[in-house]
Amino acid sequence: MVSTGGTGPHVGVLALQGDVREHARLLEGLGAHVSSVRRPGELEGLDALVLPGGESTVIDRLARLTGLQQPLREAIAGGLPVLGTCAGLILLAERLQDGGPGQETLGGLDVTVRRNAFGRQSESFETDLVVPALEGPPVRAAFIRAPLVDELGPAARPLAALPDGRVVAARQGRVLGLAFHPESTGETRFHELFLELVRQR
Ligand code: GLN
Repeated sequence: MVSTGGTGPHVGVLALQGDVREHARLLEGLGAHVSSVRRPGELEGLDALVLPGGESTVIDRLARLTGLQQPLREAIAGGLPVLGTCAGLILLAERLQDGGPGQETLGGLDVTVRRNAFGRQSESFETDLVVPALEGPPVRAAFIRAPLVDELGPAARPLAALPDGRVVAARQGRVLGLAFHPESTGETRFHELFLELVRQR
């Protein structure tokens, strides 16, 4: 993927590691113009950014090696709308529990995220979520070695919860962080909500 798709908002997908293609396809299907971000210069001119799932320790390390960490932090702090899923939520967390040795985040979401929060038996599972912001049927979501939002700071709001009330997605303005993978169950409503927020900007 270099730069493809529609005439809608220009969305960059951080393409250092992880499920980049799934997000790109979904966004293109919703009319976005999508390009991959592997270098600082590729952040220029973006209307929005997606941080995919994958392995957050690897993405963190590569972001530092490629010189992307600081520009990403500045872009997010400067108001660039961001959607992060799974490892992407970890990258957005202001505070991280159970991170790898020396692991750093980008920030942008006033939450404490616990990495790999689900025990061994349920490292991967699918479940229905309660998501008041979305219309229609419950959200079927895939959790793959997923993190959890342990605490929300005053700037963040819960966006989705497990049936037992544990928070698995949070929002702060135009920054959305999801612990699960909507892109792998064909769920498009979070990306639609995100593009709507981008268009409103
Ligand atoms: N456990 C992974 C991490 O620490 C996240 C898993 C995922 O993105 N599916 O980054």
